[in-house]
Amino acid sequence: MEPAESQMQFVFNLRSRGVTNADVLKAMERTPRIDFLEGIFQDRSYEDTPLPIACGQTISQPTVVGLMTQALDVTRRCKVLEVGTGSGYQAAILSHLARRVYTVERHRALALRARDLLRRMELGNITVVLGDGSMGLPEQAPFDRIMVTAAAEDPPRILLEQLRVGGIMVLPVGQSDAVQKLIRVDKSATGYDYTDLGAVRFVPLVEGVAEDVSD
Ligand code: SAH
Repeated sequence: MEPAESQMQFVFNLRSRGVTNADVLKAMERTPRIDFLEGIFQDRSYEDTPLPIACGQTISQPTVVGLMTQALDVTRRCKVLEVGTGSGYQAAILSHLARRVYTVERHRALALRARDLLRRMELGNITVVLGDGSMGLPEQAPFDRIMVTAAAEDPPRILLEQLRVGGIMVLPVGQSDAVQKLIRVDKSATGYDYTDLGAVRFVPLVEGVAEDVSD
């Protein structure tokens, strides 16, 4: 398939899986997934499937990225936290929708690569932080939106606390070796509302910064 045709198929796929928000679709069209992949996987960038990246991690499936971004309901006024930078793909998409994006990654090699890539793309409103995202980012809290792209058994309490009242968090929850549930959490002055968005599969949220010296 020609690149233009692949791109049309990619957007068609997103729409048919329920990603209908025009701003989200535009942000995804402006973010070529191929740039976040390496080697042989670049040829498969348009496929609607997760693909391997360094450090044994994965770049998410495009339709899941679209549905999560749409559920997060990001506006230009939002300060967003992403936990799990990975390739930086999701952060780049969020950067087109939000005022400011902070993204935290526990693998040094991934954090450095994503930081360099996003800088070269001149996406000036993203900060990549090497650290344990399960602790959030207290110095920048509270956040209007939080997206977690690795699965925890339950929504981490620290992240719920770092969400502003009126804010939204989207994350996969469940055992790492099983099918997980994607949920949206709406925080109000009186508590939390949970909406089930369907079944997904993510790599696990792991506490602490990884010990790897290289990838
Ligand atoms: N959003 C990514 C895909 C993420 S894969 C993308 O667009 O490419 C999940 C990522 O979460 C992995 O890179 C993994 O290393 C990271 N991760 C897992 N636990 C973490 C933690 N506690 N803090 C920060 N990153 C974490």
